Formats: sequence, C-alpha cells, structure tokens
Amino acid sequence: DFEVPSDEEIARTATLDDIETVAARLGLGPDDIEPYGSNKAKLRQEAVDAARERGRNGSLVLVTGITPTPKGEGKTVISVGLAQGLARLGEDVAVAVREPSLGPVFGIKGGAAGGGYSQVLPMEDINLHFTGDIHALTAAHNLISAMLDAHVHHGNDLEIDVDQITWRRSLDVNDRALRETVVGLGGSANGPPREDGFGITAASELMAVLCLASDLADLKRRVARIVVATDRDGTPVTVDDIGATGAVSALLRDALRPNLVQTLEGVPAFVHGGPFANIAHGTNTLVADEVGLAHTDYLVTEAGFGADLGAEKFLDIVSREGAAPEAVVVVATVRGLKRHGLDMWPANFDVLATPNPDAVRDGLPNLFHHVSVLRDFGLPVVVAVNRFPDDTDAEVAAILDACATREIPASVSTAHAEGGRGAEELAELVRQQVSSGRADLQLTYDLDDSLREKITAVATHVYGANDVTFSKQAEKDLNRLVEHGFDSLPVCLSKTPYSLSDDASKTGVPTDWTLHVRELYPAAGAGFVVALTGDVMTMPGLPARPAAVDIDVDDDGTIHGLF
Ligand code: ADP
Ligand code: MG
Repeated sequence: DFEVPSDEEIARTATLDDIETVAARLGLGPDDIEPYGSNKAKLRQEAVDAARERGRNGSLVLVTGITPTPKGEGKTVISVGLAQGLARLGEDVAVAVREPSLGPVFGIKGGAAGGGYSQVLPMEDINLHFTGDIHALTAAHNLISAMLDAHVHHGNDLEIDVDQITWRRSLDVNDRALRETVVGLGGSANGPPREDGFGITAASELMAVLCLASDLADLKRRVARIVVATDRDGTPVTVDDIGATGAVSALLRDALRPNLVQTLEGVPAFVHGGPFANIAHGTNTLVADEVGLAHTDYLVTEAGFGADLGAEKFLDIVSREGAAPEAVVVVATVRGLKRHGLDMWPANFDVLATPNPDAVRDGLPNLFHHVSVLRDFGLPVVVAVNRFPDDTDAEVAAILDACATREIPASVSTAHAEGGRGAEELAELVRQQVSSGRADLQLTYDLDDSLREKITAVATHVYGANDVTFSKQAEKDLNRLVEHGFDSLPVCLSKTPYSLSDDASKTGVPTDWTLHVRELYPAAGAGFVVALTGDVMTMPGLPARPAAVDIDVDDDGTIHGLF
C-alpha cells in the first residue's frame, strides 16, 4: 500500500517525449503534424486526408460504464490505463478522449485528463485552453447569435419569429445566472428585446457537428443546415439562411484537425471534441477515431456517462456513420455500485467510502443491466473494476465473483495507482475479446422507423422503461419534425446520467416506470433529433464550493489545484 501522489504532482514530475517522437509511434512524420509548443500538436490536413484514404486498420475498443456518481467512475482513467496496458503487451495503440470543458474543470467533477498514473499530458494545458478548439466553438456559436439578432434588427427580411429563435448563446463556464436572459435592452438601437439564454459550449450543436463531421466539406454542409429559428409561417430558418455558413466554418477550420498529445507512458493520445453525453452524443470526434484507426492496431475511446447514454449514442449515432467497436469495456466501481445498493441520492461520498460488501452486491444489477444491453448490441463485453484506494478486498471480490458466475470476463484495474502495469490483465482480456471476432453490431432501431418508435426502442430496450409518454408540446414537435422531413434521423435522448430512468433519485435498475418526453427539436446539423426528458440542464451551475476555489497559479507560472 502506498499513497498515490496528486494528479498535478505526477503530471509536474513526468518527463514528456517531444511530440514528434509521439507522432512517430503512429507512423507519422514531422511534416504530418503542426506542433503547438513541444508536447502538443494538431495533425495537418494532409495527414488527416491521407489517413482517411488509407482507411481503417485497427480495432476500436469502446469504454463505457455503470450509472455513475457525479464524481465519475473512472472511464477516462481506464481508457488511458487500458491503452497503456495494451502498449505494454506490445500492441500498437492510441487512445482518443474528449477535450475537457471548463464547466466541470471549475465545478464539481474537475478536469477530464484521466488521473494518477493514467493521465494524458500536459494536463494543465488540456484542462484549460489547450489548442483553442473550445474557444473557437464558443466564438462560432455566438457569431451565429449575433448575425441572427442583427438580421432581425435590420428589417428581418426572413420574417423570423422572435419568439421562436431556438439558437441560444453559449459560454464554456457553469453559469446558472445566464440560463434565462433578456437581450436587446436599451432602446430600438439595440433591439428588439427578446428572451434568450445561454448553454454551455459542450452542449452547442456546433460541438456535435465538429465531432461528427468527416471533413471540412461535410462540416460546412452540417453547419449550413443547423436550424436556428422558425419564421412566421413555422418554416425552419437555418444558419445558411442568415449567411453564416462560411464564417462559422472558417472559425472552425483548425478545430476540426485532431489534437495529438501523449499519456504518462508515452502512448499517443487524441484529445479532440467534447460534447456532453446527456444533452448531446458525448464522444470525441469521428475524425480522431478515423486517424487513430488508420495508424494503430487498437484505438481505445471513451463514451460519456453510463452505457445507457454514451455507449447507446456512440453505437446508434456514431457507429451508424462508420466507427463500430469490436469490444466494449464497462467500468464499475465499488463506490458507484454501493450507491445503487444503498439506494442513495444525492451521493454522500463519506458513506460511500465506508466498507460495505453487501451494499456492493445489492448494487450489481445496475452493472448487469448495462452488460446485457451491450451484449444485445452484439458486442463482446469486459468488465473493468476500477479499484480506488479505500476499496476492500471483500468489496472487489463481490464484483468479480458475480461476474464469474455469469461468465462475464472481468478484471480489477489499478491503472490509477500503477499505470499500464495495473491494466495488463484487462488489456489481455480485451485483446482476447477483439480477436474472438464476435462483434456483430445490432442497432436499437432502423432509420425508417418513426421517431416515436425509435425513442420507444431506446427507452424500453436500453433504459428498461415500460413505455413512453409524450407531452402536448412533444406531440406538436413530433408532427412538425415529420412535416419538415426530420423523421428519418437517429434520435439523441437527453436524460439524467444518474439513473437509468429519467429521475436521478431512482437507483439500481428502476422497474415499472414510464419515460416522459417533454420536447423535441431537430439538431439538423449534427444529424439527429433531440428528445428532452426530465429536467436536463443545458447550462450547469457551480456548487457552493466549486473546484475553482482551490485553483491557483504561482508567480513562476506553476498551476495548482487541477485534478
Ligand atoms: P469518468 O471519465 O468516468 O467521468 P474519470 O476517469 O475522469 O471518470 O475519473 C473521475 C475522477 O476520479 C478523476 O478525478 C480521477 O482522477 C479519479 N479516479 C478515477 N479512478 C480512480 C482510482 N482508481 N483511484 C483514485 N481516483 C480515481
Ligand atoms: Mg471521462
């Protein structure tokens, strides 16, 4: 037993390879990358094009998890650790994860660069401004808002209905005071006044567009068709209608090129794109996945939150466009399962740190629900028990024994405390599942099913709901979506991540419940229809004591308090 130093201590004392050396591990030369300093780079457009030309070579491994606590169960840690474990087994491997949003960095959850000895580096850069992609998205998003309001101000030729402007403003900070705002105050020179509001940049449709676009031409097509409002006849008004397609795409040109960094053990890591998985589809860019798959034998990637949200969307939305996994890792933790076993909400982390193997056992149905959903997708599953320092042997054994009884391959990972060494057994299990060649992806619904059928299929098969009800508003929205030809798109259900149901306080595997859909809208650029359930927030707030309170910078520039 030993203390794992803090993430920032480990990061500060790590020796990083030059980014050229990291690129060389992918078979990329110095001309294929554009360095941002010495330890970060963006791929050059030519290298991206060449990779896409070359096509897929490696196997995709998707990392997902149980229904999590608000602190996260360690999917990023396991993704990074697994990639390091595969590298230790001699495999050519890379990892692809999302760019952290400043919202969680300064809020409750902290950064998203992994942790312990399974981090991506340089973690300060990655967690803060990095290569500027998220700032570019915020600028592009608000440019659309500004052009929209200017159009209305200068005569409103498109006859936009100011009460039906759906494109709200965006900021990459958790700022609840901006959820509902009024803009255009101060007289007719500034107006017309109207209600508006802000979402977090990670929830912007532009973020989803960036993550799903295959190249610049596709990005432009997607940006052009984003719906921002409706006119007085109820016809959708798009980004292209207000003339913003070109300028928005220009702002996003560089953001579309994948960022390359490294893990603590020198494994190439793509950190690119960062949509949330409750209000968007929640995975890094398709472009990064494609480049990774062209240049490695294994690409490990992470889908947000639990398998009901991130993995379902990865499979039903992203894989539909090409990148299908050959094995899935489900991350489980003692603390996460204990919350389910104790039927606890909100999570009390002091209680969750108290040994209680029975509570862990009582929480296992949540894990097995996710495993069985993923098996129904036709994918081989491996359970990774992400071991925390306080976990007891009895608690960990409770998970492993139950997996063994059900013949689910499972391994304890100590990748946080030990790096790749602590994930070698997991890597071996994953390698076996990939080489079994058993993956045979079955999606939850067909695109020509009705929107109602698609939503019902996700709710019943994946979430375990009995059925779905649609509010009056949702019924209206459904009719409108059909009328405007959006009914052949996949669906992206927005739901709390803290329960399989739409009510965060229902733990474990809720039974006898109905999913309530309150509103639907087209994310025509992203290419899906969003169905809002429960009271999901597109702008989070800061807690009473945000992580930001503990973040500081020394006179010499050293940053403290990031985790
Ligand atoms: P996720 O990606 O599932 O949201 P992360 O990998 O970001 O979760 O982990 C959430 C937090 O928990 C991070 O601060 C991470 O450093 C920490 N963490 C994860 N696994 C462990 C572990 N085994 N021991 C200690 N801390 C851990
Ligand atoms: Mg994560």
